[in-house]
Amino acid sequence: MKWQGRRGSSNVRTSKGGGKLIGGGIGGIVIAGILWLVFGVNPMTALQTGQVVTGGGGTSTEPATSTDRDTQFVKVVLADTEEVWHQIFSEAGSTYKEPSLILFNGQVSSACGSASAATGPFYCPGDQTVYLDTSFFVEMRQNLGIAGDQQGSGGQDNQGKAGDFAQAYVIAHEVGHHVQTLLGITQQVGEASRQVTRAEANKLSVLQELQADCFAGVWAQRNQERVQFLEAGDIDEAINAAGQIGDDRLARASGGAVVPDNFTHGTSQQRIQWFTRGLESGNVQSCDTFSGAL
Ligand SMILES: [Zn+2]
Repeated sequence: MKWQGRRGSSNVRTSKGGGKLIGGGIGGIVIAGILWLVFGVNPMTALQTGQVVTGGGGTSTEPATSTDRDTQFVKVVLADTEEVWHQIFSEAGSTYKEPSLILFNGQVSSACGSASAATGPFYCPGDQTVYLDTSFFVEMRQNLGIAGDQQGSGGQDNQGKAGDFAQAYVIAHEVGHHVQTLLGITQQVGEASRQVTRAEANKLSVLQELQADCFAGVWAQRNQERVQFLEAGDIDEAINAAGQIGDDRLARASGGAVVPDNFTHGTSQQRIQWFTRGLESGNVQSCDTFSGAL
């Protein structure tokens, strides 16, 4: 994947620990109204997801100034998602509100509670922030065997390292959850989940995850149109990543029994299928994983 030489996002921050996360506010009301007009989303549901919890704990952050390769990479990928989603929202007559991304080391407090490296990358709707542990890339390369040796198929002019696009895909998936939050989908799923059995709630969660995969595919397609960043082998790499992090694979790898009711991300096959659908269409309308479910 080509990524050097493009704009890096100013929304990437590093966690310092302690202190409080301050943010949120009035902008949510405006966005809620716009979403209601454009997407038919109930403004109250969008509004609730836009609220930021400022009361309990949190983590103070500062702009990420590190020039190390992983930080630069994250900044460029996040900026790429900003460009694409601004474009898509604008085409729909709406305005995209950029998420923050916090790089943390070891442990972090979010509006969704505290998290550690073991949590894995996640998005918190309460503070509209993507959280990435700094060991995430290393673990992805090692534990999931994603980086692999792709030199053979990539040719000599590979600008990036093998595994770059798989990492970008994971960030794009988390940003997909942010888009779901802006559209009010996260809130709707949350409300529906409270009224059903645990097994049914897990099913809804799977559909939400698959939609985030599909949104990641849409992003990849639109970013390709914009900056031609894909290189030979990149799509296989993402498909491999999607396959590697399917719940069934994770359950097997950790020695646990695969129990479909506990799936929260979908099977490898489902994840690949929905990522591919988004990638081929480049259109968010193709990502209606919920049809018939809600
Ligand atoms: Zn997810």
